[in-house]
Amino acid sequence: MTLFAAVEMAPRDPILGLNEQFNADTNPAKVNLGVGVYTDENGKLPLLACVKAAEEQLLAAARTRGYLPIDGFAAYDKAVQGLVFGADSAILAAGRVATVQALGGTGGLKVGADFLKRVNPNATVLISDPSWENHRALFTNAGFTVGTYPYYDADKKGVNFDAMLACLNAAEAGTIIVLHACCHNPTGYDITSAQWEQVIAAVKARGLVAFLDMAYQGFGDGIAEDGAVIGQFVAAGLDFFVSTSFSKSFSLYGERVGALSVVCESKEETARVLSQLKIVIRTNYSNPPTHGAQVVATVLNTPALRAQWEEELAGMRNRIKAMRGALVEKLKAAGVTADIDFITTQRGMFSYSGLTKPQMERLRGEFGVYGVDSGRICVAALNEKNLGYVADAIAKVM
Ligand code: PMP
Repeated sequence: MTLFAAVEMAPRDPILGLNEQFNADTNPAKVNLGVGVYTDENGKLPLLACVKAAEEQLLAAARTRGYLPIDGFAAYDKAVQGLVFGADSAILAAGRVATVQALGGTGGLKVGADFLKRVNPNATVLISDPSWENHRALFTNAGFTVGTYPYYDADKKGVNFDAMLACLNAAEAGTIIVLHACCHNPTGYDITSAQWEQVIAAVKARGLVAFLDMAYQGFGDGIAEDGAVIGQFVAAGLDFFVSTSFSKSFSLYGERVGALSVVCESKEETARVLSQLKIVIRTNYSNPPTHGAQVVATVLNTPALRAQWEEELAGMRNRIKAMRGALVEKLKAAGVTADIDFITTQRGMFSYSGLTKPQMERLRGEFGVYGVDSGRICVAALNEKNLGYVADAIAKVM
């Protein structure tokens, strides 16, 4: 009898497991539309020119690698704040935001979840139905009971906003509401700024805790446009959480560059919150890694590199939009008569295609086209070379 005799085999991660299956597939025509990764027109993961330039600067400076402070590289945290709240934000000037560097957006969510568990241990967490798979697991593992608020409306091919709002308006005070700031994963459907105002009113009236997950800033309609919701929360005078990820927007997935920002009531409160965030970090991984944060800080804090980043990000955003339009065209050309124009109204990397699990299984089995069983496909992985093949395959299973 070994110590691990009773350890059960855990299920594979639904999305990363799909990757393993894709890698093992010998079909030469296979296309991976499963994982949320942006690939360029040649199907390659890009290394942004602004990142390369920043890395060259960092290499030339031959920086040593001491420990970073627990809350991360100060110039990075400041750059994140400027990006998320606007450099001339009054709450930044008032010292009302605690920002810590985190291991990707996931790390930001996890530090926030662990902190919330200390502050409000009996709160329930509500995530959208459906949501990014890891939201539920992450908040459950942090010790919370996780429920959902209605979001996707399959018939309408959009958001069931009335049901969402009704749910928020019935939630108990202190309930933590995880909201996708933009480019909703997996559906691709976002709510309008007028609808955000109603969400904010509900959060305020019910005393809810908003946790905004911003993993795709710049992939929807633009950096400022996608971040506008943050300004709406600030204007409402709310305390709230924002997790930031640069995995996609800098194509720095493996560097694990993200952050958590907590908006507080006062400078003094911010100091107390920051001190607790640091304990969460110290007792988990002590302090974050150096490289990715230095790259991002260098880009964001150097005007020429920042301009280059904005251009490269716009390039990724516009290419995705072009692929959405091209997919619709090719599907129509392949004989699809159902209404598929919703693909072009969705935002971000994903499209909730409406395809069923058996259809997704056929796509994988017969065509080597890998999407998630929920029908989610990553449109950011489409390109001129694989588009026709993917559209034909989808048309055949529809
Ligand atoms: N939130 C959402 C909604 C995401 O889609 C992702 C990435 N798939 C993350 C958070 C996590 O991002 P990261 O890879 O930076 O941890």
